[in-house]
Amino acid sequence: MTARLITGGTVYTADAEETVHARGAVLVVDDTVAAVGPADEVARQAAALDPAVRAGLRTVDASRMMVLPGFVNAHWHEMFAMGFTMRGALRPVSDREDQVGFMGGGGDMHQISATFDRFDPLIEAMAPDEAQAIAEYSMWTQLRGGVTTLGDMGSLNRPSAMVAAARRLGLRFSASTWAADAVCAPGESRFTRTRDTDTVLAGFEALLREAEADTTGRLRARPNVSYVTNMTDELARGMGDLVARHGLPFSTHVGALRHEADLMRRYYGDTGLRRLAGHGLVDERLMAGHCAFLDEDEQKLMLAAHAHISHSPGKYGPSGESALTETGVVPALRRAGLDVSLSTDAAALPGAGIAETMRAAWQMYNEMSADQTEVLPTDALAMGTRIAARGLGWNDAVGSLEPGKQADLLLVRADDWRYLLNPRPLESFLWLSGSADVHTVLVGGRVLVENGRGVEVDEAALRARYLESLAGFTGRVLKVPAEAIDRVLGQVNR
Ligand SMILES: [Zn+2]
Repeated sequence: MTARLITGGTVYTADAEETVHARGAVLVVDDTVAAVGPADEVARQAAALDPAVRAGLRTVDASRMMVLPGFVNAHWHEMFAMGFTMRGALRPVSDREDQVGFMGGGGDMHQISATFDRFDPLIEAMAPDEAQAIAEYSMWTQLRGGVTTLGDMGSLNRPSAMVAAARRLGLRFSASTWAADAVCAPGESRFTRTRDTDTVLAGFEALLREAEADTTGRLRARPNVSYVTNMTDELARGMGDLVARHGLPFSTHVGALRHEADLMRRYYGDTGLRRLAGHGLVDERLMAGHCAFLDEDEQKLMLAAHAHISHSPGKYGPSGESALTETGVVPALRRAGLDVSLSTDAAALPGAGIAETMRAAWQMYNEMSADQTEVLPTDALAMGTRIAARGLGWNDAVGSLEPGKQADLLLVRADDWRYLLNPRPLESFLWLSGSADVHTVLVGGRVLVENGRGVEVDEAALRARYLESLAGFTGRVLKVPAEAIDRVLGQVNR
């Protein structure tokens, strides 16, 4: 058994009372939080440890640090295979010619549906080693930014490769599959089935068996539908059956874009949320991604069901989405008591992490309501930790610093000019710090990042393997000419 006393720092527990200890401590024994509280109290508990455990106790001076629970990013997609082609490396250096993207302007729904329909053949074309190298680097950037629990909501990568990557990196992972079996083609009045539903469902069942066989406690699986625009009733029914049979949480994107409801009525006869409800998928197990474009009845449905919204305000502006201010529905539902958590969603290059997303929520929700107490810094933290863990169905083990929970925690230096005189280091963190300022990351008591560097993995080696695999996939599958790939890589290596 190993024991670690992290003492002297400002400890944000993110427990139900949002308790903060100004000079606090966390006692970690093996993989678990044994005690949290004022430093002198926790020191007494450390002194009372079994002598054999106490003999190996390591004390960490955190007096110039802030201690946070590990971030829980419950709505994420592995997309780094598109690092060249999806708002990626092939763009010109100047942004002056940029046009509204397919998620912008309310959403080009046909293009979105067609794009999501093309994921499966791309995933199948990835070699397993290539897929794992891409996943390892992508997931490393999450871990480096303080994410200790990652929830996949459908990725352009092989589920087994992401599971292997999570194991190698040591972070906690809720795995899923890309599930889509239909497309809304332009000029039609009904969806077109593109995939066998039973095969899609069987893909998740295989992943679930892999998760159930896991003995580390760091792997789970959650059924997910990529987007309601690409879901037949058979797929929804099958997912409803899976969720009920195995007692699992469920996630999907719904109410994400202004033009979604019109398309859904035309191609499927009803809106996404009502279709999900019709298949028993709107209840306390639902994590709805974005979920801002809901009519009044749909809002009542979410509230009555005690469902959950995962919101990504750090990325809406950069992708041209308006899932915060256009309707104001998500902050209104949060005020009405619905669980709203924060997540990064997807990007093919590193984008806003949970730290930057917490800043976006703190600044934007409060601006919308002309009330700086609507989302306090500790509320933003809870939305990126405890509440996200609840939405993921993993709050039994993670999401806050409390005795008995897994020792997933972060240390952030809080002793430079940005923190001067501020008795609330979390506030300074939201103002002026971010993902790159996370100093130390522990998952289940294991130190995975220290002083911003990987302890068990070599970041340079991860990056080299990523670039090599990305170049291979981009040339072979995405058919990008070798000269263009070499030009980009030449700049990386310069
Ligand atoms: Zn998403």
